[in-house]
Amino acid sequence: MSVLITNIGELTTQDTEGTVLRGAAVVLEGERISWIGPAAHAPAADEAYDAGRRAALPGWVDSHTHLVFAGDRTAEFEARMAGQEYAAGGIAVTVGATRAAGDYDLTRLLLARVAEAAAGGTTYLETKTGYGLDVGHEARSARIATGVVDEVTYLGAHLVPEGQDADAYTDLVAGPMLDAVLPHVRWADVFCERGAFTADQARHVLGACAAAGLGLRVHGNQLGPGDGVLLAVEVGAASVDHANHLADADVAALADTWSGFADGAAPGTVATCLPACDLSTRQPFPPARRLLDAGVQLALASNCNPGTSYTSSMGFCVATAVLQMGLTVHEAVRAATFGGALALRRHTGEDADGRRAVGSLAVGHRADLQLLDAPSATHLAYRPGMPLVHAVWKAGRRVR
Ligand SMILES: [Zn+2]
Repeated sequence: MSVLITNIGELTTQDTEGTVLRGAAVVLEGERISWIGPAAHAPAADEAYDAGRRAALPGWVDSHTHLVFAGDRTAEFEARMAGQEYAAGGIAVTVGATRAAGDYDLTRLLLARVAEAAAGGTTYLETKTGYGLDVGHEARSARIATGVVDEVTYLGAHLVPEGQDADAYTDLVAGPMLDAVLPHVRWADVFCERGAFTADQARHVLGACAAAGLGLRVHGNQLGPGDGVLLAVEVGAASVDHANHLADADVAALADTWSGFADGAAPGTVATCLPACDLSTRQPFPPARRLLDAGVQLALASNCNPGTSYTSSMGFCVATAVLQMGLTVHEAVRAATFGGALALRRHTGEDADGRRAVGSLAVGHRADLQLLDAPSATHLAYRPGMPLVHAVWKAGRRVR
C-alpha cells in the first residue's frame, strides 16, 4: 500500500542538510518513506493525498515525558503560581496516586495522554517510569508503557521515597528493581539534583544500568548549578535533560562530545531543553543559544508530567524556544524532530531492533510526518498556541 502526498507548499526534511523543498511530494510505502522530490516528478501510488500547499515536516520526536501516572497536582500548581518555591518533593503525591491506581486505569490514562500527543503532531514518544518507586510498581509502570509508547526509560531514581535511607534505596534501584524492569526498558535515567540523588548515587545507578545493557540519560542542572551535566558526559549518556544552570565547563564538556560528529563520529550527549517545564516552574530557560553556538546538539521535549509540565504540546515548546530562548524557527523545529531522535539514538538507519530512523524525512526512514494548516513551519512560532496540526502519519498510517 503506497500513498502519494503531493502539492506540499513547504517540506522541511531535517535530513543532514536540513533541506527545505517547495512544491514537493512524498511517497509513503508501508511504514517507510520511499520517495521525496518535486511534485511534478512524483511516481504513481495506490492513493493520492493533496496537501493543498500546506507545510509538511517530520512528526515531533518527544524524547522526555513522564506519562505513566494517576492523580492530579492542581493544588501544588496553584501554590507555586501564588509564589511558593518549586522543590523536587511533589513527586511523592503522584507516587501515592499511581500506586493506588489499578492496571486498567493506569493504562487508560496513559493511552489518553499518548492520543493527545499524537493529535499535536507527536509521532515518536519516550516515557519514563518513576512514580512507582518500589520494585513491583516500577516494574508495572514499565510493563504498561511498553507497547504503548516507542521508548521506555527506567527512572527508579526519581526521588528517594519518604522515610527511606538514600543509599539503601539507591542499592535497590541499582539491584532488584533494575532486574525487575529490565525486560521492558531500553533506557535508564537518574534525577541528579539537590533534594533527589547525589552524583555518587547517580553514578552507582547508571553504572549498574549500563552494565545491564541500558542506554543512559540524566536529569541535571535544573534547579541550580550541579554535577548532572558532567556526570552525563562522564558516563556517555545520550542526553542530559533540563540543563538550565550551566557553568562554562559544562558547556565545554558537552561541546567536546560532539567534536567529531560532523565527520562521522558517534553522537555525543544531547542537551535536551524542556521549556514548558521552565515556564510552569518559573525557572530561567536553559542557555540554548550558547549551547548551539558551542556546537552542542539540542533536543526540545515536553517533559509532560503532572507536577511541572502538564502539556505534551511540542508546537508550544517550539514556539517558546523561538520566542523566549533565542532560537530560530528552523533550529527549534530541528531540535524537536532530529534532535529528539538523536537523544534517543533513532536518528539513523535500521539498528539491531530493526527500527527505522525517525525525526527526519528521507528515503528508508519511518514515514512519520505532519501537515500544518499553514504555508510554512514559521507559523508555529508566528501563531503560537493555534491548533495548526492538520494531518499526521505515524509509520505510514494516518493517525489524525
Ligand atoms: Zn523529567
